[in-house]
Amino acid sequence: MEFNSEALKAQLNNLYGSDNPDNQLMRALLSAKGDEAVTLRSFANDIKQKHLGNYVYFRGLTEFSNKCSKNCYYCGIRAGNKNVERYDVNDEDILDAVRFAHEHNYGSVVLQAGERSDKAFIDRVDSLLKIIKQISNNELGITISLGEQSYETFQRWFESGAHRYLLRIESSNKDLYYKIHPQNEKHSYEKRLQALHDLKDIGYQTGTGVMIGLPFQTRDDLVSDLNFMRNFDIDMVGMGPYIEHKDTPLYDYRDQLMPQKDRFEMTLNMISLLRILMPNINMASATALQAIDPMGREKALKAGANVIMPNVTPGMYRNDYKLYENKPCTDEEASDCVSCLEMRIGLTGNKVGYGEWGDSKHYYNRRKK
Ligand code: SAM
Ligand code: SF4
Repeated sequence: MEFNSEALKAQLNNLYGSDNPDNQLMRALLSAKGDEAVTLRSFANDIKQKHLGNYVYFRGLTEFSNKCSKNCYYCGIRAGNKNVERYDVNDEDILDAVRFAHEHNYGSVVLQAGERSDKAFIDRVDSLLKIIKQISNNELGITISLGEQSYETFQRWFESGAHRYLLRIESSNKDLYYKIHPQNEKHSYEKRLQALHDLKDIGYQTGTGVMIGLPFQTRDDLVSDLNFMRNFDIDMVGMGPYIEHKDTPLYDYRDQLMPQKDRFEMTLNMISLLRILMPNINMASATALQAIDPMGREKALKAGANVIMPNVTPGMYRNDYKLYENKPCTDEEASDCVSCLEMRIGLTGNKVGYGEWGDSKHYYNRRKK
């Protein structure tokens, strides 16, 4: 049967900002390919342009420590992996990376690390936040992604200058959550959900997300994830393909996975669907996309994403922050990446919003209500 692009656009119009999206349609579109995928992604891109313009915002990403107290079954830096050389980037090197981002007009930085909630870690992050604000004359926006913390810690870091927080729910299906995490005090679905509520309550621009193509995950799970993000009224999202890592428990299920290419295509379709459902959120183009396709991040920008997180972690540490196989740019220095990035973004029809925080428009609209 011949593909009818007008009929699909009419269906997509019904999804656009809908309070009652059609689950069957979303389920079918998760597997969109060929002309159908082209129509879906360009529709989402048009919505992004309409609501947010053709800007892409940079967040200079520092993965400042791979020490982690948790044991998520998918992650290469989980505590139980003894084959990882653990590191902590020292404060001066972190601040150099931050200065690099500031000097190159990135507008914002992201501090990300394994999850720890000991006092030394909490104090250290707190002091780094204050210094970053100071050395950048409050010109840099700060996103943090440091896992679940107590309400008090979230609040303290907020007051010290972090204003955006990324905490992926990983999967909104509780049964699936416990297939990809141990079920214990440290890995509790309820706690994760509570942490997201706490972040929102404190006033963070709150970001979440899921991995796509996990073992045991169905398309219905992904439709539920889209509905979860819409119902939770998130401000930002980071979604990426799941990529297997040989030193993790989920590696045993690698034969059950979709081919990486299909996980990649499904991630782009998820991004487009969420853009259509939530036109004014910030959506990051995940690094994991680039691990599958060298142009992966650019393809996500054309499918509705509007944020990119160039890695500014000092090169010598990058090889040890391996969440999954083929993690890109592990042998580069930050400066190697800058020159080509602007050109690559230009080719997607977007411009870099240099020097701007690029906050979530959704957040401000939500707070006005
Ligand atoms: N420790 C913090 C946390 O878990 O929120 C922040 C760092 S953690 C490495 C950041 C994200 O990496 C996780 O939310 C997870 O979705 C993603 N990740 C971990 N292992 C992955 C894998 N094998 N494939 C794709 N993404 C992965
Ligand atoms: Fe630690 Fe985050 Fe990896 Fe889980 S996903 S093991 S919390 S770094």
